[in-house]
This record gives sequence, C-alpha cells and structure tokens, in this order.
Amino acid sequence: MAADLAGITGMNTPTGLLIGGQWTTGRAGLLPVLDPATEEPIAEVASATAEDAIEAVTAAHDALPGWAATPPRVRGECLRRAYELMIADTESLAKLMVLENGKALRDARAEVTYAAEFFRWFAEEAVRIDGMVTRSPSGTNRILVQHQPVGVSVLVTPWNFPAAMATRKIGPALAAGCTVVLKPAKETPLSALAVAAILAEAGVPDGVVNVLPTTSPGSVVGAMLADPRVRKLSFTGSTEVGRMLLHTAADTVTNCSMELGGNAPFLILHDADVDAAVEGAMIAKMRNGGEACTAANRFYVHEAVADEFSRKFAARLSALSVGPGLDDGTDLGPLVNADTRTKVATLVEEAAKDGSRVVTGGSAPDRRGYFYAPTVLDDVPPTAGILNEEIFGPVAPIVRFADTDQAIAMANSTEYGLVSYLYTADLRRALQVAEALEAGMIGINRGVVSDPAAPFGGVKQSGLGREGGHQGLLEFTETKYIAVDW
Ligand code: NAP
Ligand code: MG
Repeated sequence: MAADLAGITGMNTPTGLLIGGQWTTGRAGLLPVLDPATEEPIAEVASATAEDAIEAVTAAHDALPGWAATPPRVRGECLRRAYELMIADTESLAKLMVLENGKALRDARAEVTYAAEFFRWFAEEAVRIDGMVTRSPSGTNRILVQHQPVGVSVLVTPWNFPAAMATRKIGPALAAGCTVVLKPAKETPLSALAVAAILAEAGVPDGVVNVLPTTSPGSVVGAMLADPRVRKLSFTGSTEVGRMLLHTAADTVTNCSMELGGNAPFLILHDADVDAAVEGAMIAKMRNGGEACTAANRFYVHEAVADEFSRKFAARLSALSVGPGLDDGTDLGPLVNADTRTKVATLVEEAAKDGSRVVTGGSAPDRRGYFYAPTVLDDVPPTAGILNEEIFGPVAPIVRFADTDQAIAMANSTEYGLVSYLYTADLRRALQVAEALEAGMIGINRGVVSDPAAPFGGVKQSGLGREGGHQGLLEFTETKYIAVDW
C-alpha cells in the first residue's frame, strides 16, 4: 500500500508516531487511512495510546526550555525554511492530501499554499512579540509587560484542512517559543506527518513538534489535558467535541483556543451585483467541496434578485465535474467518509419534505466513493431544519426575503457565529449590516475571508480566541506584568 502512495505522490511519507524526534510504532496497533474516492485503504499509520501521549508530553516538556530560549530570529528562520520546503513540495503534498481527504487537486494545491503561508507569516511575527513599559499612574514605579511562551501545547485538528489547520497552530506556537503535541484527525494523519517531516528538515529541534495519530482521541487527548505540564489546548473541530474538551480542560484550568463549527449565512440584498454574488457563492459554498467551517450554509436572497441568482447559481453548480480528486478536470471530489455523505443526503431529503424545491442535484451518484451531487434547494422555509445544521457538503439552501432587517434576524438566529457573507452595491449599508451580524468575520462582496495575516475566529458557540494575524501568536503566550522601582 505504502509503495503506491510514494508512487503517486513522488514522496515518502512517514507513517509512525513522531515523539522526541523519533518515528516510532504506537502501542495501539495501526490506523488504516482510506481514499474516499475508492473506499480502499491507501496506508496504515501508527496509532497512539495514552501512554504514548504522556511520552510525547515529556518530549515536548524536555524540549521547551531550549526552544523558548532560542532567539526569535532563529525560530522564525526555521519556520521560513519550512514555508519554502512546503512550497517546493506543493505537488506531492497536494496529491497526498487528495488521497486521504478526497478534495479536488485544485483545492488541495490551494490548501498547501494557504498552509505554508502560516509558516511564512509567523516566521515574520516571531520577531515582533512586543511588550510595554509605562509609568504607573501613582508615579511610584514602572509597569513592565512582556509575553512569554505559554508552554507545552496540545493541538487537535480536523480532517477538512489537514495541512492548514496544523500549520495555523504549529506556526504561532513555534514562533512564540512553545513546543507542541499535535493530534491530527483519524481520516487525515498523513498530511500532518508530512508537515512534521518538513519541520524537522527545516531545522526544528527534536521534541519541539510531536505528532500522534490515534484511534482513541478521547483517551489520548484526555491524558494530555490531565497532565499539569500541558498548559495550552488549541482545538479545531466540531462544537460538540469542543464543548466536551472545555469541560475536561476546566479540571486543570488549561488555557484554551477553540475554532468550532459554523453556520454561515450568505446575504444578497436587492441591489447586489448578481453575477458577482454567484461568483462569490461558488467560492463560499464550493471551496473544499463545501467541507469548510466557513462554507456558506444558508443563502438569504432578496426576492427581487432571487430568481436570477437561483437560476445562475444552479447552472454553475450543475456544470461542475464530479469525480476522483486526482483526475484531470475534477471540480468536486467525494465527501470524506460514508457518515458525512449520509448526513448530507438526509438533510436534503428532510429539506424536500419541509417544502424546499430541488433546483439541481439532490442525490448521490450511483458509483463507488463518497460522492454527492452539487445541489441547490430554493424556496426553503425559514424554519427548515437544514438551516440549523452544519451541512458540510455541496448543498446550497436558498431562503427568500423581502426585508433586510428580517434577513439579519434570520442570519443571527443560530448558536453559531463564525462568518457571514454579504453582497450589496451600497457600502454604507454593507458596513451597517456587517456591524449587526453576529459573527467573528464578515465577507463583504467576497466569498472568502481566510487570510494568515487576519484574525480568524468565531463568536457565540463558534469558538474562543483567534488564529492568524498577530492575535494568533498571542494565543500561545502568557502576559507577565513586572512592577519595578528603578
Ligand atoms: P470533530 O469530530 O470535532 O474532530 C476534530 C478533532 O477532534 C479530530 O482530531 C478528532 O479526532 C478529535 N476528537 C474527536 N473526539 C474527540 C474526543 N472525545 N476527545 C478529543 N478529541 C476528539 O470534527 P471533524 O468532524 O473532524 O471536523 C469538522 C468540524 O470541524 C466542523 O464542525 C467544522 O466546522 C469544524 N472546523 C472548524 C474550523 C474553524 O476554524 N472554526 C475549521 C475547520 C473545521 P478523530 O478524527 O479521531 O475523531
Ligand atoms: Mg468527527
């Protein structure tokens, strides 16, 4: 199996656990990795137990003083080299990602670039961890404020962006002087292992980055969170698992950054440029096949432009070519696994029962692999269940509205608040609506917000903290205040 992988990707991908700079076999046997386009295994990787996890924490803890004391410039240069190595390996890394995740090669290439950019950005930020000196109001002393590395950090990542969710955490952690143990998703451990191998090649010392694929995420992550040497949890995944981990982290009062689920509304006001909105919707809905926390999940379209938008958007979606991600010309690959496809199919069936009209798609093609047809549902009732669930697939429900305030209220009626999209020709109105939308990020006349230089994150139950930008670095630091009389 591994031979095929090397043949297709043109690269050798490690399949062990990475602990203290050594690739080892896990105590829990092997974790099979499947190709979602064929449902066939492509590799087996080592699977960690709680005991392996404690070894990894020890390795990270031992490496911490040396890495924290390494000059920021040197830490930054390691990250910069990792950026360059990733870019040089784009094609191999992209193919590896397609094999384990299913996404179209074009999306995978875009992700490798996006992922590498986190290393470049945090290479630059590593030397800009500013503090502050002020005189106290009473005049008796000085107030010194500095940011120190928070310490050993546990990073838990999902399968939908297997490289970028890892680099978005490893980049700032290493820039800040922290050491890490990364637990990738069971569906996509290979990209994470490949990124770790690149970091080692870039000169990151042994023990600074440890990686633990596992079939038992609960006990592995639980054991690490119970260990007082672990000072930070940075998690990206579902709100459901995030909530559980917040409870667990409470026992040791571990610092948490949480990037959780989304339910992004996409608002199209009466004066929007409909062609631009269709273009933006293609990205907001179809980037990564709809398997993105930022994916447009609900389209609220003013009735004056709804017919035109629905027709043009459905035409674009139905023209997409669906097939294995590695095939030439594929626009949309399979979903990641059978459960995800079942969930998407069920949501569409229920929406149809709720009175929605299927404009295009609405079924899974009769073939091997976890494929689902690009789907547009129109006239979706505002109360339909599909509007409350993260679809995580290529399905676009359209709700028509007559009044902008009503659209804002519908957009905000969710426990989530990650991102919202808005199309209108009136920038003044756009900024007013942007302020009223309950989301951590707003795209105005744009279908994508992700940018390593910008603070990414959600409000409400979409998360705590921010990744990227300068804030992403500060999440891996503790603020220390020193009162000094000189
Ligand atoms: P998930 O089921 O929550 O899994 C995320 C990670 O948590 C995986 O590594 C998973 O391991 C691990 N995990 C599962 N159960 C655990 C437990 N009991 N204890 C500790 N770790 C556990 O999410 P997913 O299905 O992989 O990913 C999709 C979700 O991620 C969506 O909700 C999406 O919105 C969210 N997401 C959010 C962002 C953001 O930035 N806000 C970005 C991307 C994705 P296993 O793989 O072994 O289950
Ligand atoms: Mg899961």
